[in-house]
Amino acid sequence: MKKNIFGMDQLQLGALMKHLGQKSFRGKQLFHWLYEKRIQTFDEMTDFSKDLRSQLNDQFLISHGKVLKIQEDSEDFSKKFLFEFSDHEMVESVFMRYDHGNSLCVSSQVGCRMGCGFCASTTDGCVRNLEAGEMLDQIFLVEQTQKERISNIVIMGMGEPLDNYENVMRFIRIANEGFAIGQRKITLSTCGLIPQIKTLAGENLAINLAISLHAVFQQKREKIMPIARRYKLPELLESCDEYFRITGRRITYEYALIKGVNDQNDDIEEISRLFRGKPHHINLIGLNEVDGLPFENSLSANQFMKRLQANGINVTMRRKIGSEIDAACGQLRKKIGIR
Ligand code: SAH
Repeated sequence: MKKNIFGMDQLQLGALMKHLGQKSFRGKQLFHWLYEKRIQTFDEMTDFSKDLRSQLNDQFLISHGKVLKIQEDSEDFSKKFLFEFSDHEMVESVFMRYDHGNSLCVSSQVGCRMGCGFCASTTDGCVRNLEAGEMLDQIFLVEQTQKERISNIVIMGMGEPLDNYENVMRFIRIANEGFAIGQRKITLSTCGLIPQIKTLAGENLAINLAISLHAVFQQKREKIMPIARRYKLPELLESCDEYFRITGRRITYEYALIKGVNDQNDDIEEISRLFRGKPHHINLIGLNEVDGLPFENSLSANQFMKRLQANGINVTMRRKIGSEIDAACGQLRKKIGIR
């Protein structure tokens, strides 16, 4: 069977060319054709000999997933894309327009095995990891459909990116070097896998790291995020401090406000105690209520934010986008029906 070449990084393409008896700079040329020029056939690679092109043709494919469905939110014009890959698995991306450019929320896995109690992506577990090419496809296919450039990426769609570490790193490097998306314009969000956060700190990447915190008490966090049983809050926060020491990149802590769960006085006091006086940015998120899950959006978000600000906390509220289009990750895929 022919192998899909779209999604291979510089190293892999260099090795492939070497295998075909070529000099390694040919790998760089291949990278350029695939990701900068985005050609669709090997025959367009005009600086390769006919012989080399036919060798590539015999052994490889340049293949993409397809757009299955697009839903547009009539209020904020965000668009949710549903993609299908060759094995008929589906993932979602959300396309958003901001003053500073277009942003795409990218999925990293089909489903997720982290089990967060409020999240629609995880209710049926993780089917499989996405390949780097399937993450790149989300950008590729949205740009092709929209005829617009995407300048910002948030890896906040379905899946836990640090649970698919190698493919996500490959994706980030190709998006950066091939699609020319600045590292500072790429945000990776994790529920807090400590060993991978430590490895990430050593990757020499200037990306943004977001931690899904959602609770500042160990017991409370365990109740809504099972992963907290394995990676305890104090160690998680320590690994975040370490990440900042190594990379100099300030971390964003995401906090989805859930009525009666994490929107209380003691939560405000503990957030203030933990973060006052050290580099931080807290991003409050309105909860997207998911059918069948018992959590409701908090009614006191504004007050919660103001009280944190009064305590000297650097806190913002994420604009709620795409509530009409089931933008909470995993909801559209669920509606369409998974296999
Ligand atoms: N697995 C990664 C990235 C995917 S989720 C992570 O946990 O960070 C992206 C963000 O959306 C996370 O902060 C996640 O906790 C949050 N999220 C998930 N379900 C949500 C919901 N129903 N409402 C609001 N935010 C939600």
